[in-house]
Amino acid sequence: MNILVVNCGSSSLKFQLINAEDETLIAKGLCERIGIDGSRIVYQKIGGEKEVNEIPMPDHTTAIELVLKALTNEKSGVVKSLSEIGAVGHRIVHGGEKFASSTKIDEQVIQAIEACSELAPLHNPANLIGIRACQKLMPDTPMAAVFDTAFHQTMPQEAFLYGIPYEYYEKYKIRRYGFHGTSHSYVSRRAAVTLKKKYEDLKIIVCHLGNGASVSAVEKGKCIDTSMGLTPLEGLIMGTRSGDIDPAIMEFLAHKEGLDVDGVMNILNKRSRVLGLSDNLSSDFRDLEDAYIRGEESGVRTLKSFCYRVAKYIGAYAAAMNGVDAVCFTAGVGENSPLIRELVCEKLGYLGIELDETANHTRGEEIVISKNETGTQVLIIPTNEELAIARETYALVK
Ligand code: AMP
Repeated sequence: MNILVVNCGSSSLKFQLINAEDETLIAKGLCERIGIDGSRIVYQKIGGEKEVNEIPMPDHTTAIELVLKALTNEKSGVVKSLSEIGAVGHRIVHGGEKFASSTKIDEQVIQAIEACSELAPLHNPANLIGIRACQKLMPDTPMAAVFDTAFHQTMPQEAFLYGIPYEYYEKYKIRRYGFHGTSHSYVSRRAAVTLKKKYEDLKIIVCHLGNGASVSAVEKGKCIDTSMGLTPLEGLIMGTRSGDIDPAIMEFLAHKEGLDVDGVMNILNKRSRVLGLSDNLSSDFRDLEDAYIRGEESGVRTLKSFCYRVAKYIGAYAAAMNGVDAVCFTAGVGENSPLIRELVCEKLGYLGIELDETANHTRGEEIVISKNETGTQVLIIPTNEELAIARETYALVK
């Protein structure tokens, strides 16, 4: 069965068509600037040329229409008709406490996702637009919702409650939810396969280090803690997001800079950490690494602060699980940056970790990069959220 995986943002839509039986990628692409001037679709049949088409996309329905046209196009398409698409899997950012696993989409599920929009006002409404657009164009095709938050729903209360009055949890559901769950789940499972051990026997820490970044502790196949919170702002220092700060900084900054809540939140979400910390040098880790290697102070302090925070979370989660068998690096930075892995792991000697320099320079492979035979193993596991979504969708609809 072919599964169309859709990841719908407010002005963009990423898609992949995956054969769920043999798990091969058939075609992929991206619609950009939906509803804005200069919209374009990038489409690639695997093994074929990348096609870029600038074409007006006033809304998401038009974008999905163009995706379906590209997939069925006589020349570069990959299916003869839409009936060859067996199901659609939608990435949904926030499932609140309602969804602890993926689910088939019906009207009730749509309403429940809508109800979670308050917790993810930038993401859930866009995800819903994607669902509605697909329903309009493929009314008989089954669809599944795969949530970024679901994998973390196994966290115990002591990990997900904040130290604020309990009534706010009861009234408003203010608690830690965590994000990137599809990636944390996929990577931790693959780590067990790579180590040839049973998933249920392992204590695993997954470092998903991309433009957004989070760490999770997975014990016996269940997430027991993760660094992102009510929103994706908490935890590690990220591309532009601050991660953990003293909450009193908000009031202090508001007074000093004459800002309201939105103004302060804008600083914390868009102008902070690696971008802010590097004094606007870049939010792209490649630029920061170049600056680090040149010995520039902005690059050095930014990468050192970033890696320090990652190492601190690893220490905290090793303590939370009373040990750790594997530390996994994944996502754009985690998979591609030997320097970041080195700077983090040099702080993990107490776990018996020693990096194998040659293995640490590997790319695009699931591989153990620590050379110590006992103690904690370190791995690179390339994430594949789309494949994970396709698997979940297939399991629900087959
Ligand atoms: P993601 O959000 O997972 O797509 O990751 C995006 C981040 O990965 C960006 O900040 C990129 O700079 C970073 N990245 C991609 N390739 C490399 C690389 N070779 N070295 C360091 N960082 C990289």
